[in-house]
Amino acid sequence: MPDLGADPLDEHGVRTASGGGAEGAEASNGLQVLGPEPDHACLQCNINDGQVLLIRYNFGRDITAKPLHEHCAPFFFGLRLSLQERDELKRRGFSDDDLFEMSPKRAHEILADPSRTAEAPQEEQRGSATDPGKCDR
Ligand SMILES: [Zn+2]
Repeated sequence: MPDLGADPLDEHGVRTASGGGAEGAEASNGLQVLGPEPDHACLQCNINDGQVLLIRYNFGRDITAKPLHEHCAPFFFGLRLSLQERDELKRRGFSDDDLFEMSPKRAHEILADPSRTAEAPQEEQRGSATDPGKCDR
């Protein structure tokens, strides 16, 4: 094909480092992709399929870059609930709607306390009162 060297109309010129769709929003959560990490397996899923990236979480306690898949990083850094965590919350009586509205930060607080269940809401603070992107623990 002809040379496509300079294309001023390339709307995708800005690399979003995103797998697709709404994932792009994660970038503002403090996750930063530093580049590919072909030699290590993902810390979250233990798979090295050639898609592993070096990712760091700028708001975390440990801001060194970790080998992670882009889609695994939010789980690893606690920004999103894993399937196991969701299952555990459901065991405690939370519904899908509850989980949908729950911030990952709150979910982890609940998970950290075995006595917390859906029947005993302590701080009823639903919705987006807490911005998970600005959590400083
Ligand atoms: Zn992974």
